[in-house]
Amino acid sequence: MRKKIVAGNWKMNLSSDEALFLIEDCNRLSEGVKGVELMVFPPALYIQQLIAHNSPRIQIGAQNFYPAEKGAFTGEISFTQFKAIGLNYFLIGHSERRELFHEGHLFIKQKVDAVLNAGSKVMFCCGEPLAIREANEQMNYVRKQLNESLFHLSTEEIVNCSIAYEPVWAIGTGKTASTEQAEEMHAAIRTWLKEMYNAEIANNISILYGGSCNTSNAKELFACPNVDGGLIGGASLEAESFMKIAKSF
Ligand code: PEP
Repeated sequence: MRKKIVAGNWKMNLSSDEALFLIEDCNRLSEGVKGVELMVFPPALYIQQLIAHNSPRIQIGAQNFYPAEKGAFTGEISFTQFKAIGLNYFLIGHSERRELFHEGHLFIKQKVDAVLNAGSKVMFCCGEPLAIREANEQMNYVRKQLNESLFHLSTEEIVNCSIAYEPVWAIGTGKTASTEQAEEMHAAIRTWLKEMYNAEIANNISILYGGSCNTSNAKELFACPNVDGGLIGGASLEAESFMKIAKSF
């Protein structure tokens, strides 16, 4: 059966001390959380100190990386370098990377392949901007994102991925997708997984919702049959709210 996952995307927030306090608090408050995989994606600069600090109940992943092992890529960090310090989970395709840093389908596909070839795991983000939702084109839009960067994977590879559906109009806006909107897209993604792979794989891949998920709406979102958890931005920067969300199943 598929895993329930609650992951925090800290983005470019927090001081080094704040990051340490936050993971410490999350680890302490997570004691009552059962059957949910907890994960955070901190700024790269803090990852080593967070790993050294050892918060056993919270996995740590990378928000970003470059899909080459090494070389002349000034300012970048490779997936191999992250892997060497113990990271196993990589966030790929976040709308901020797509929009602000112009990451296209092909580059995202290269990132997916790099991580999976190294034996690590992918959290693949997809989701439509507001204009696409208003034109009622969200299904075609998200399907294309998956077709172009994820659905080339083999059955052996896709099982090492989870998917986060994050409507762009809901990210950081305080505007959450309704349970009907979230469930409709999650169910569609699961149907596509079944068509592209098989029913067992479709049933086993976790599909998370992201976009202004918070302590007030997590319970109803997580109650949707095809929502297996959340990718949380703003509300993951505070341990109490993040853990309350993790206890919302
Ligand atoms: C995100 O950026 O992945 C996200 C879901 O952000 P927020 O929860 O702040 O909308």
